[in-house]
Amino acid sequence: MIIVMAPGATDEDIAQVVQRLEDQGYGHHVSRGVERTIIGAIGAAESEKQALAEQLSRFPQVERVVPILRPYKLVSREHNPETTPVAIGDFCFGRKKIGVIAGPCAVESLDQLCQTAHLVKEAGAVALRGGAFKPRTSPYAFQGLREEGLLCLAKAREQTGLPVVTEVTDLRDVELVAKYADCLQVGARNMHNYDLLREVGRTQKPVLLKRGLAATVEEWLQAAEYVASEGNLQVILCERGIRTFETATRFTFDLSGAAFAKQETHLPVIADPSHATGLHKLVDPVSLGSIASGLDGLEIEVHPHPDRALSDGPQSLTPRRFAALMEQLRAVAEAVGREL
Ligand code: PEP
Ligand code: MN
Repeated sequence: MIIVMAPGATDEDIAQVVQRLEDQGYGHHVSRGVERTIIGAIGAAESEKQALAEQLSRFPQVERVVPILRPYKLVSREHNPETTPVAIGDFCFGRKKIGVIAGPCAVESLDQLCQTAHLVKEAGAVALRGGAFKPRTSPYAFQGLREEGLLCLAKAREQTGLPVVTEVTDLRDVELVAKYADCLQVGARNMHNYDLLREVGRTQKPVLLKRGLAATVEEWLQAAEYVASEGNLQVILCERGIRTFETATRFTFDLSGAAFAKQETHLPVIADPSHATGLHKLVDPVSLGSIASGLDGLEIEVHPHPDRALSDGPQSLTPRRFAALMEQLRAVAEAVGREL
């Protein structure tokens, strides 16, 4: 449930409510706004909620106690009506300026990565992506350079100044990946890996949370809640297509789901048109549509030689095509009151 404090509530009034929650064994999350403070109570069982709400509403500086019907709380707009800005490096997702994360599917070599990094930066990307641990459908496909790949990412950051986003696939690697990355990506296949979600929630790093291949928006938001419940509210949600009966594209891009998520959560929501479609020719229209619809940014795969890529070549843009798309995105962003 959410406890809305009266506009004049003092620190002492807030502390009293927090103390009561602690005394009864509940968790809490205090969100201080300019006008008022909102406290999220965590961990109350369904059967206890009514009694707790009654108790708390007797505090003189508690204006309202709002029961939560949704299965997520900390990440809901009900809890925090304003979009939470999430910074990767110097760039804040969730503000007027939209952010584009770009780079190869996988880190293949220092050369390939740095070449791409310089070009996407020149075109206006705000962060570099690249997988060092690749969750491939086939166990025989290229699995990534692992720590060597992380070192390449750190070198590319040094050379370009771009912060790096990379996927962590295993709970045991969180510390290692966090040592190198500016943002931890949790991939679609791991969206339901609750131990991993909790572990990235215990870090101070921003998390890019992909939607699962067959996850509903509600499940996706609950996955974000797992991260938030450990104290890390620096989460960016990324729609990357879902499994449907359609086979023309690799997955089916769910723009309405992403737009719905944006209304439900205060966290920034971005789109990944590369994995959603699997086809480089569809990256432009899906990117433009996402920004026109109010999403906060994009994650796009770019490779200097898509025909030679070790993974996801068919959906990768060349740096030149990426730069052309950025120009189009700029115009669309401006048309809907945003900037690029
Ligand atoms: C990726 O971004 O490298 C990736 C594997 O994406 P997803 O988890 O969405 O399939
Ligand atoms: Mn990929």
